[in-house]
Amino acid sequence: MAIVVQKYGGSSVAGAEKLRKVAEKVKARRQAGDEPVVVVSAMGDTTDELLALAKKVSPDPPRRELDMLLTCGERISMALLSMALQELGVPAISFTGSQSGIITNDAHSQARIVEVRPYRIQDELERGKVVIVAGYQGVSHKREVTTLGRGGSDTTAVALAAALGADCEIYSDVDGVFSADPRVVPEARKLDLLSHDEMQELASAGAKVLNAQAVEFAKQKGIVILARSAHGGGSGTVVGPSSPSADGRVKGVASEPELVVLSARGEARSLPELLDFLDARGVRGRVLSFDSVSAGGGDAFIAAPTQDLHGLEALASDLAVRFSGRVELREGLGTVTCVGAGINSDWSRLRRALQVAEELRAQVHAVHTSPLMLSLLVDRQHLPELSRRLHRELVAGQS
Ligand code: ADP
Ligand code: ASP
Ligand code: MG
Repeated sequence: MAIVVQKYGGSSVAGAEKLRKVAEKVKARRQAGDEPVVVVSAMGDTTDELLALAKKVSPDPPRRELDMLLTCGERISMALLSMALQELGVPAISFTGSQSGIITNDAHSQARIVEVRPYRIQDELERGKVVIVAGYQGVSHKREVTTLGRGGSDTTAVALAAALGADCEIYSDVDGVFSADPRVVPEARKLDLLSHDEMQELASAGAKVLNAQAVEFAKQKGIVILARSAHGGGSGTVVGPSSPSADGRVKGVASEPELVVLSARGEARSLPELLDFLDARGVRGRVLSFDSVSAGGGDAFIAAPTQDLHGLEALASDLAVRFSGRVELREGLGTVTCVGAGINSDWSRLRRALQVAEELRAQVHAVHTSPLMLSLLVDRQHLPELSRRLHRELVAGQS
């Protein structure tokens, strides 16, 4: 008997019928001789709905109370899935993140897991039960309930797999990781194999199929993730340690349309001050210091995904007071990012990416490169077409 951690995302548990199907899958897995620990997300759009409700009551809600609210979404799923399993004659029990021993730091709404003490889970597995765990949440050393950032149920699954010495399977509405979001790029292909590094870049650049922090955790702990479809029969994608050769192949394209971009115009001194300011407000940036290629030059850019930014208006007014115009906050921009180890071993891909942007008359505000990726900052409306064209030329066009 092997312990296996399975995670089912929001779309896979959206409604009673889907929950029943998940319960049947879990039952079949148990009958095949495995010991499932099942991590669930909130049903469908529950988290977005709870957030919208909170913002009607308070535009910049206290993060502690926000976490108390948002964790309810996953509690609903865990209890219902446990009921569905018991209805099928399978002994099951549900646990919150706190009951599961997921200990985090105290950064409400973007907490990081610091330790896992899965003793209650292990006890219940020994009693022959399937354990259902509410994803996306933990408890701090101060015994406060915390959440792990949007998409954080993936992180719960990886952390539990590491603590239990188990395999980790992440189920969603797509059969694994594709070379681009299939909703944006219809000709995207499923990838059979991907390195942790490449997946982390894709996830950080907006590929929501796996959470970036979860992949980072998997890399640290040596956990191989199998990403696959909750209800289809495909083979999925294996995300594991890097292959030794950086062959320069472009594996995928990701875009991030929901960004707030802060630019410290031409004043190097503003940047450390700005970082202090953002740290104090728990604002995390995905990309630091784009080198400007637009007219004027010398701007330092910080791009923060808006999904974890609660209270944008308050941030904007604090920024105006503190920096009196030296730092500009802009919305309506987004990034398109191409990922592959060795992608910048020569200039050919960056050159082509810039040409494609020019052909589409998409002004490139900034460029960022690393050994694993190249990223262009453009106006949001260009992202879908630019993603399709870059996929066609840099991913599909490879011999
Ligand atoms: P879950 O609710 O199961 O966690 P998510 O909605 O977070 O699922 O992630 C699955 C979605 O990620 C897919 O529906 C797809 O539109 C999107 N996606 C973005 N980039 C990719 C990619 N490279 N490969 C597959 N899916 C992707
Ligand atoms: N329910 C949370 C979210 O929507 C966590 C997750 O789905 O992984 O972000
Ligand atoms: Mg997700």
